[in-house]
Amino acid sequence: MKETRLLNTVGIFIEKWRGVRGRRGQLTLKVEKRAYFAEITALLLHLAGYAAVIGILLASVFSGRIAVSAFAAVFASLSALIQQMDELIGERFGELAENYAGIRNYRAFMERKTAPQEGDGGEEHHEIRLHKAGFSYPGGEAVLKDIDFTIKEREWIAVVGENGSGKTTLARLILGLYLPSEGEVCYNGISTAGLCYGRLQEQASAVFQNFRKYKLSLQENVEIAAKGPAAQMGVEEALNQAGITLSKEVFPEHLNTVLVKEFGGVDLSGGQWQRIAIARGIYKRCGLIVLDEPTAAIDPMQEHELYQTFLEAAKGKTAVIVTHRLGLARACDKIIVMQEGQILDVGCHEELLERCDYYRRLWEVQASGYLTASG
Ligand code: ADP
Repeated sequence: MKETRLLNTVGIFIEKWRGVRGRRGQLTLKVEKRAYFAEITALLLHLAGYAAVIGILLASVFSGRIAVSAFAAVFASLSALIQQMDELIGERFGELAENYAGIRNYRAFMERKTAPQEGDGGEEHHEIRLHKAGFSYPGGEAVLKDIDFTIKEREWIAVVGENGSGKTTLARLILGLYLPSEGEVCYNGISTAGLCYGRLQEQASAVFQNFRKYKLSLQENVEIAAKGPAAQMGVEEALNQAGITLSKEVFPEHLNTVLVKEFGGVDLSGGQWQRIAIARGIYKRCGLIVLDEPTAAIDPMQEHELYQTFLEAAKGKTAVIVTHRLGLARACDKIIVMQEGQILDVGCHEELLERCDYYRRLWEVQASGYLTASG
């Protein structure tokens, strides 16, 4: 809002809104015109049919083939019949057509598997395999194409590449949050499309780039990830590991401090929120942990510490780390280099340095940045 006011961009937005409103008006007019002409045509046909039937009936009365009483009886039943048909076709079928899309979505939603079922991947995963997997966001072009690789149990995988190369989307596909539009993602050989989503959730934890800031207490902000046996440590321990110090000044009511001013609580900095998101991610007991670089608002020293915390928490687990920091990627078993939605190369740091020009360039740019900074 401050930027909008300072740059005085209000006029631009109003102009854009007027343009969109105008285009929307034109489209509405076009659709309504079509509907109106269809309605008028149907009404004229209806009237013509009605007039023809009455004409035939009158002709029959005048020629003496039917009595006036029979005319009256047929006329009355005809009117009732037409009224009912009008209601059936015009209203009921109209409503059905209007609601069809909504009903289809509702049924698809209700029929989704929610309860664990036998053979649906309830056991711990040993292997996640992406086979010719592709993904497009609704109405968009393919964001991921032909992704083929396997993550073995307890393997650490780093995903690196430019912004927009599809790293976050790939992490969501691995987590089963999105189903691939092409190919498949399999847990122990079973496609995520056939797996029970609840089971996938139980096995995985993640720290996202756009994590939630719950307007709840500090304790609830961590505990929300897992209850009881689903937690692998205490709330305080998770917070300590993520580098949160529970001082009286910052958290006057200790774990019960509410993290929002509106409800009488405190305001936290971006960096503190990120630490809480990491605490939430490592708090949950899981076999697979995903980190999608949530460290934008902290300084490099803190970032280094947080990554160490995360790696510590990932010990003995399968980990997928989306990162720009090649130093972190180096600590992983395999690095996937993404470019324009495709895998450019997969290998360990040394292999990639040797054979992947793009990776080598990325490494040299980062290494020279550090040299310049320290030199
Ligand atoms: P990265 O993590 O490498 O920056 P993303 O996976 O976030 O890449 O994005 C890949 C592409 O998908 C980008 O072109 C981005 O604009 C597009 N994209 C990401 N999220 C959405 C979304 N929710 N809806 C439509 N397009 C999206």
